Amino acid sequence: MKQINSIEDNLEILEPFISGLNKYLEKSRSLSLFKKLPIRDDKENINDRLLEGSYLFSPCGVELRESECNSLALELIDLLKLHLTDRADEINTISDHLLNEKINPHSIILSTIKNEGNEIRKKIRQLNLPEDLFTFFLIYLARPFREQAASYLLEKIEKLIWLYGYCPVCGHWPVLAHINEESGERTLWCVCCNTKWKFKRTQCAFCLNENHESLEIISPVNEESYRIHACKKCKRYLKEIKSNNDAMNFQFDKMYLGTVPLDMIAEKQGYIQESILTVRYDNPAGNELLMYRQKAIKEKISIN
Ligand SMILES: [Zn+2]
Ligand SMILES: [Zn+2]
Repeated sequence: MKQINSIEDNLEILEPFISGLNKYLEKSRSLSLFKKLPIRDDKENINDRLLEGSYLFSPCGVELRESECNSLALELIDLLKLHLTDRADEINTISDHLLNEKINPHSIILSTIKNEGNEIRKKIRQLNLPEDLFTFFLIYLARPFREQAASYLLEKIEKLIWLYGYCPVCGHWPVLAHINEESGERTLWCVCCNTKWKFKRTQCAFCLNENHESLEIISPVNEESYRIHACKKCKRYLKEIKSNNDAMNFQFDKMYLGTVPLDMIAEKQGYIQESILTVRYDNPAGNELLMYRQKAIKEKISIN
């Protein structure tokens, strides 16, 4: 059986990679990535949309700068080559396809931000790509674009009021929660666009279940700050970290990647990880289960 590392060990091993990834993300923030930004409602409509549970980013009509797509793709693949040496062959395959243009960065980024999971899976099958690694590559390749869109869409909002478990900007599920040890406040984080939002501490982000009997907290031995908030009702889970650091300055990427041992523990106990490629609940071709849950959420809110 594969040995599960302690999280502290894992974070230490990952440090050089995370530092490279932070540089990649930091640099991308100074670039102008869009030829045409997404549509932004005026202030009043934005608040109405948020209250209705409709997330803000609609990728329809956006145009990306091709040169930036290409340079970010090469930069990210170099970063993976340098640090993920145990998967060198698979990374070289992706790299070769970028060079021989079987993978076009501009179109694959567009597919990713449009949540075209079927298109992406087709590509994965056609080129025989490693699904986990390629998904990871796409999420971090699309991240600068989604993050820039998020800054633009949230720019005029003074205080974000959002009661849902999925991201208020891009609609994806959170992958990590931060719990402020002092105040007990919980902040959820979206890896796709780097948005953070406050959420009830004892509620399942996926189905809004609040019954404590069907929610459980699982922690690795001797590492109680790292936990899994698991829901027996919908079988989903969210990784959580208790911290003294403020959520706004918390290193979410580092902690998300460093807490992979928690995913292994959750999986062993039968909990399911949500896909981070496809979640468009307003798209009929999207995730049906999500559509169902959205309905349940809406009903619940109208009852209250
Ligand atoms: Zn998001
Ligand atoms: Zn649930």
